[in-house]
Amino acid sequence: MPTSPKERNLNGTAAVAAVVPAAGRGERLGPGAPKALRELGGVPLLVHAVRALARSRAVGLVVVAAPPDGVADVAALLDGHGLDRQDVRVVAGGATRQESVRLGLAAIPEDTGIVLVHDAARPLVPVEVVDAVVAAVRAGAEAVVPAVPLADTVKRVEPQAPGIPEPVLDTPDRAVLRAVQTPQGFRRSALHEVHEKALAEESAGGLPPVTDDAGLIERFGGRVVVVPGHEEAFKVTRPLDLVLAEAVLARRRASDGF
Ligand code: C5P
Repeated sequence: MPTSPKERNLNGTAAVAAVVPAAGRGERLGPGAPKALRELGGVPLLVHAVRALARSRAVGLVVVAAPPDGVADVAALLDGHGLDRQDVRVVAGGATRQESVRLGLAAIPEDTGIVLVHDAARPLVPVEVVDAVVAAVRAGAEAVVPAVPLADTVKRVEPQAPGIPEPVLDTPDRAVLRAVQTPQGFRRSALHEVHEKALAEESAGGLPPVTDDAGLIERFGGRVVVVPGHEEAFKVTRPLDLVLAEAVLARRRASDGF
């Protein structure tokens, strides 16, 4: 992807904004409020996630993509938790994560050099991970993802209807696999460009939406690099994840008054 002269100098002063897709229903977590509004230590996951980003001195603006019917509620909730409305904006998200990110990106000023995309469902990401991602984009990468090695062996299968055993196709070498987390970091113009291309393709009946933003960069031939993630940046998806997140939070609160 071509680089403009301004972007070639994404130095320590480039503005950084973050998009937080928070419009998912969170059905795998069981019935209840949208996932981003479920509580962890008495505070919604979304509030934890926004605070985790705001803890980085680099991040100047956070745009939250809320459930389309919940924009006012989410804005009030963030206000209620003392998050400064000058630095936090709420927009309506979409039907897929990809659409929510695209709508969030549209609310970011064009002179912003770097954009992070961070799942509301990753409330406990340490600030060191946020800063490492920003630093790697500043150092010249177009797209950066934090990731961790896998504990489990992974098999590729032929999916079947529930109850029918799934034939295994093969076992990729675990040593070259990584579990990818967020925040993912991008040159803003590069991320904007691939989201627009994907939208055009989608309306032409093209490929299905991706599950992470770096996937879009890859789809259109861009280069993505990995920096070390953190085990506490895990995504709260299933009920057990909430139990683990409560335990991590309790340990932090006990050890450093977090
Ligand atoms: O569904 P998944 O766990 O991949 O969702 C990751 C993130 O994307 C969550 O923070 C969720 O709220 C968000 N999302 C969204 N809009 C959707 C679906 C998911 O913002 N339509």
